[in-house]
Amino acid sequence: MLRRAMGPPFRILVVEDEPVIRELVRSMLSDGEVEVECAATGAEGLKLARTTSFDLILLDVVLPQLDGITVCRMLRADPSTAKVPLHMLTAKAKKSDVEVAMKAGADGYIHKPFRGAELMDLVATLRAAKG
Ligand code: CA
Repeated sequence: MLRRAMGPPFRILVVEDEPVIRELVRSMLSDGEVEVECAATGAEGLKLARTTSFDLILLDVVLPQLDGITVCRMLRADPSTAKVPLHMLTAKAKKSDVEVAMKAGADGYIHKPFRGAELMDLVATLRAAKG
């Protein structure tokens, strides 16, 4: 596939029920080459992930109704989203919680409160891998 001179933007989906955290992540990561889309619920996140292609999904664990672990399993079970880099974003930091997330198919785990540098490093690594 031919790439445009500027390259397509790096697209990130943030699934998070707390507006303050959604906007924090958006403001930390958005720039001319990175687009951040947000979903407030697991169902909304699933719908967006299935209809738009993303380069990274940041998924909160504790969400109302459909929790992040369930959303992660559903994304991994769907061929159209199975390979999208997915990192859980949560304050739940016990070793067992990390294991549950990894078993559900997450690629990584970012603890709240996170530092902007941590998120930016992750995005920089994935963008470099994307080429
Ligand atoms: Ca939450």
